[in-house]
Parts: sequence; C-alpha cells; structure tokens
Amino acid sequence: MRQIIIIGSGPAGYTAAIYAARANLAPLLIASSVEAGGELMKTTEVENYPGFADGIQGPELMMAMQAQAERFGTDIVLDDVVKLELEGEVKRVTLGNGDVHEALAVIFATGSAYRKLGLPEEDQMSGHGVSWCATCDGFFFRQKTIAVVGGGDSAMEEATFLTRFADKVYVIHRKDSLRASKTMQDRAFADPKIEFLWNKEVAHIYGDELVTGIGVVDTQDGTETTIDLSGLFIAIGADPRTHLVHGQLDLTTEGTIAVDGRSSRTNIAGVFAAGDVIDPTYRQAVTAAGSGTVAALDAEHYLAALPKELLAKADAQPVTV
Ligand code: NDP
Repeated sequence: MRQIIIIGSGPAGYTAAIYAARANLAPLLIASSVEAGGELMKTTEVENYPGFADGIQGPELMMAMQAQAERFGTDIVLDDVVKLELEGEVKRVTLGNGDVHEALAVIFATGSAYRKLGLPEEDQMSGHGVSWCATCDGFFFRQKTIAVVGGGDSAMEEATFLTRFADKVYVIHRKDSLRASKTMQDRAFADPKIEFLWNKEVAHIYGDELVTGIGVVDTQDGTETTIDLSGLFIAIGADPRTHLVHGQLDLTTEGTIAVDGRSSRTNIAGVFAAGDVIDPTYRQAVTAAGSGTVAALDAEHYLAALPKELLAKADAQPVTV
C-alpha cells in the first residue's frame, strides 16, 4: 500500500507529486493510457508560465515537470483509472489493466475535457476534418480554408497557430466581443489570414468522408449561410472531468469538485482535489500548479495525523494488490 496516489498528470498532478515526493511520501502518479502531461501537451508556446522569459513549448514544460517529479521518487503509471473506492481509511484505485492500487490518501487532479458543440455530425467527423487540437492536426490543412469556433484564449491561440498552415482561418464566435485576453485578441486581429464572423453559431457540418463545409446561423436575425471549408477546430472551453467520483465526492453548482475553503480537502477524509477539476474560474497552468502544491501539503498534514500502525503498513514496499 502507498501513502499517496495522485491521479492526473497536468501541472496540478505533477506539482503535487514533486511536493509529495520531496516529503518522502513515495507517491504513485497515474497519468493516462494515451499520453502523460495533460492538455499542455497539445499546446504550442506557453508565454505566461513564470520563469521562462522567452516562453516554453507546452510539451517541453510538461516533460520537465515529469522529470522533476521522477527525480524525487515519484512512480508514474501510464494507464486510466476506471474505478475509485474512496470511503474508509484505505482508498482503492482500479486501473484499466485490472491492477488495483491502495493508498491512505488520494489527490484527484484529472483536469477538464474539451467541450463539444453538440451537433450530430461532430463525433462522426472527428478526425475527418473536425478537431479539438490545432497542434495535433493543423499540419493536415496546408493551404486550406478552415474555421475555429470560440471566443476565448484557446480559440485565439488555435486560430493564430493554424495560420502557419491554412490560407484562411475564420473565427466563429457566438457574440460580438471576445472573452480572450487582450494580447491574444490583438495578435489574432492583426493577422491578415484571420477573419472574424461575429454573432454566429455552427448549426451543421457538411461532408461525407471529409468535411466540405459548415452551416452557420446568425444569432441576431436567424439567417443561415454555408461556408466551404475543409477543417473545423472546436475551442469552446472545457468541463471538469469528474465522472469517476460522481456519487462519492460533492460537486459545486458549476460542476467542479467541492473543496473546503481555500484548501484541497473534499467531503471525504484523505481525498484531496486540485487543478482545473476544482477551478471554474482561473484555469491557468500556474494556478493549477499552485493548487497541486496545496493538495500535497494538505495530504501531508492528513497523513502525519494518522495512527502510526496504519502508516507503517503504507511505509512497506509499495505493492500492487
Ligand atoms: P473559455 O471558457 O475561456 O472560452 C470558451 C469560449 O467558447 C467562449 O468565448 C464561449 O463563448 C465559447 N463557447 C462556449 N460554449 C460554446 C458553444 N456551445 N458554442 C459556441 N461557443 C461556445 O475557454 P478557453 O478554452 O478559451 O480557455 C480556458 C482557460 O484557459 C481560460 O482561463 C484561458 O485564459 C486559459 N487559456 C490560456 C491560454 C494562454 O494564456 N496562453 C491559452 C488557452 C487557454 P462566450 O464568450 O459567449 O461564453
């Protein structure tokens, strides 16, 4: 049995692991069966993470965090958690490969999942012209016309990045002003390849094998127009990934995991949450990292107060049951 298991490998998970490992808690971190590092693995330049005056590529930042966590003794498993049993002194974490790991404390830092438009064609055309990741798929749209949906920082970042490949990038936004930060807005406005379509919602995605166009509806007068294009990038935000803890952990009205004040303590003793999964507001890499720190410190205090006999069991060589 472990003292602590951390679920999630974004800035919150890795930072929690760095702190927990440096506190000699020998954490086990469950990353993901697909790719460790979370959403920043899909971004390009990160310009606002302190300490990198010239910016750093998202994947490079996450690999550095991983190396730092491993350096102090974090064990990392690339698999998905399929079941969590959180009540009681000993928590049980079941993985996709069938392994069950036990721990006295769990930090839940699963981040958030991309939002969908809710169109029937969306899933079917995913990978055939519909994408949620410009850095993954942008290359396929050389000299093409494409569109990005959304008005936040992600949409601006994706649109700006995609101009490297595409000849023309529409940004389709349902309002007449953006939510994105001023710097990102200005960069997109100054780009001659980007054209903004205001007060528009995507109503249809056309194409059989590949996307050939979209239908957009004007939110003010209801008129629908068709735009010929080959790619549609959806960047309309993300929702906290909480499905594993439904029925166990309390949620807020915004759908994030409820924590006690500024702490990371959930409604179950020994279970802590950090990062985007508790944050409906800020959702920055650096705030997630700070939140991971809080969770590791809270977990450390919790563990220190447990009966010695119980801790002794966890101090034993970590094993898979
Ligand atoms: P946001 O929630 O900030 O923005 C989502 C955007 O999508 C909004 O403009 C919203 O419209 C629009 N939207 C939401 N749902 C729909 C829908 N169903 N149909 C059409 N449009 C929709 O998400 P982001 O992913 O952009 O950003 C999340 C966080 O990550 C933010 O805090 C952001 O600052 C941060 N971030 C920072 C970056 C950086 O600094 N380098 C890069 C990327 C993200 P409306 O405005 O009408 O609500």
